[in-house]
Amino acid sequence: MTLPDYAIEVQGLIKTYPATKTTAEMQALKGIDLKIPRGSIFGLLGPNGAGKSTMINILAGLTKKTSGKVRIWDRDIDERPRDARAAIGVVPQEISVDPFFTPRESLEVQAGMYGVPPAERRTMELLNALGLGDKANAYVRQLSGGMKRRLMVAKAMTHNPPVLILDEPTAGVDVELRRQLWRYVLELNRKGVTIVLTTHYLEEAQELCDQIAIINRGQVVACEPTATLLGRLDTRAVVVTPESPL
Ligand code: ADP
Ligand code: MG
Repeated sequence: MTLPDYAIEVQGLIKTYPATKTTAEMQALKGIDLKIPRGSIFGLLGPNGAGKSTMINILAGLTKKTSGKVRIWDRDIDERPRDARAAIGVVPQEISVDPFFTPRESLEVQAGMYGVPPAERRTMELLNALGLGDKANAYVRQLSGGMKRRLMVAKAMTHNPPVLILDEPTAGVDVELRRQLWRYVLELNRKGVTIVLTTHYLEEAQELCDQIAIINRGQVVACEPTATLLGRLDTRAVVVTPESPL
């Protein structure tokens, strides 16, 4: 089997949230084109409200797009939704873990949902890799915010997807845990996993990512290798007008 050149391809992606009683119609994505090379650590950088989570949630199958094409690992999300979903693990921006499961149970349930046979599950391996080995049998409600986030990363990896997407992974995570998380992410990348992460911190994107796309108000305003992008930022050739500081 040949591997795809791009882990993710997005073409003309548009998302319009309908108007509600209290809000006007909102076009969160205005025609996004993006190609994320297989094997890269790709940063999606942009201020709050840029549309990062909307795009991630469409990739994850959690939000319906309005129009456009999305291929994950060469699988069109409209034509082969299940296959497309099997190729990615997504760590959402909001922490959501079941308070009544232990981390071990939580991973077992997740693996079951993805149809991973018991013999192929890597529950303890994942918990250990994320520094949660000694919490395997604790109640999730007893875990700190950082631990819960790491548990969410472990959950996203239970079906061993070739692409891992992290939406604002360091929000509310202290420095030590952040390092641990990056160690794990870099290790996965060395093993060939394509990493996509969103952030509104330029330093974070620049430290980790080999390519960065800047997204603002639902549009991609730059997409380049990190070094090229930083060079252009230095010479002020890129004009970005964020709604809040990057
Ligand atoms: P980011 O993750 O970059 O901060 P989001 O994708 O969360 O951006 O939001 C992009 C825009 O879409 C924002 O203006 C936000 O208010 C709007 N938005 C996000 N989710 C919804 C929703 N469920 N309904 C309506 N508008 C939404
Ligand atoms: Mg977001």
